[in-house]
Amino acid sequence: MKSSKRFVRAFFVSAIVGLIVLPVALIAAEQEPIAKSVFAIKYADDSKPMPMYAAFWMGPRFFPNEPDPRPSMYYYLIKTEKENILVDVGAGPEMAAQKKLSNYFPPEVMLNRFGLKTSDIQTIIITHGHWDHIDALDQYKNAKIYIQRSCYRFMVEEGPELAFFRKTGYPNKKHSFAMLTAMWDNQVRLIGGDAELFPGIKVIEVDGHHPGQQIVVVETKDKPIVLASDAVYYYSNLEKGHPIGMYLGSLRDVIKGLETIRQLNGVVVPGHEPKVMERFKPIDKEVVQIFP
Ligand SMILES: [Zn+2]
Repeated sequence: MKSSKRFVRAFFVSAIVGLIVLPVALIAAEQEPIAKSVFAIKYADDSKPMPMYAAFWMGPRFFPNEPDPRPSMYYYLIKTEKENILVDVGAGPEMAAQKKLSNYFPPEVMLNRFGLKTSDIQTIIITHGHWDHIDALDQYKNAKIYIQRSCYRFMVEEGPELAFFRKTGYPNKKHSFAMLTAMWDNQVRLIGGDAELFPGIKVIEVDGHHPGQQIVVVETKDKPIVLASDAVYYYSNLEKGHPIGMYLGSLRDVIKGLETIRQLNGVVVPGHEPKVMERFKPIDKEVVQIFP
């Protein structure tokens, strides 16, 4: 009787301890950020400046004396213990020639600076469907591609449906087909809103610039890294609190996205900011280390 009582007590004590300790341990394991390093890769500069009306909403009226900024083109590498994750993929050589980009380097050249090949990339997070972010996608046959469902739908359905978008190339036919092909090849993983793709590597859907426009937040022990993509083009969008002027979605969402980025209180990396190359540690030609 005595020993069975002791057994019952031991059973309940261990059950309670298990109930408390195990979930806490699981939460701790879940929350441990796994990013080891984050890099910005500048694969080109635009050959011409970005008009003020595009850089800032109604820019010439609000900032009449400021020159048109000249955009740089980026994608990003996040390294974990097991994964090489690209955030966007930039443009391939044909598109770079067509758009007359200057200082252009193709993916194999930029990745080689990390000792990587395109086949070494296991994961790609696409922030949105514009050519300067997505064109080289067909070079990454081994990667799982994470994209917001609304971004995907705009690229393969809502965009091509309308004559204006077909005419302007937003979305571009090649990229629309590349996305469908990737889906048939089981590469695409559609995301519906905000998600944590890996421990401490999250996406937030902000919309605005493009349907399903997402930003990537990399948690660190210190401030989070915020890869803002084209939710903000330049640091001055944040400093002036002034939204970009180019959007397929709504101005309201662009402004809300700007506010979301501010509230994250992290290290922000804007989508087309030349100063990114000065603010962070250079480790190779056209490559800076954002973290650690
Ligand atoms: Zn862009």
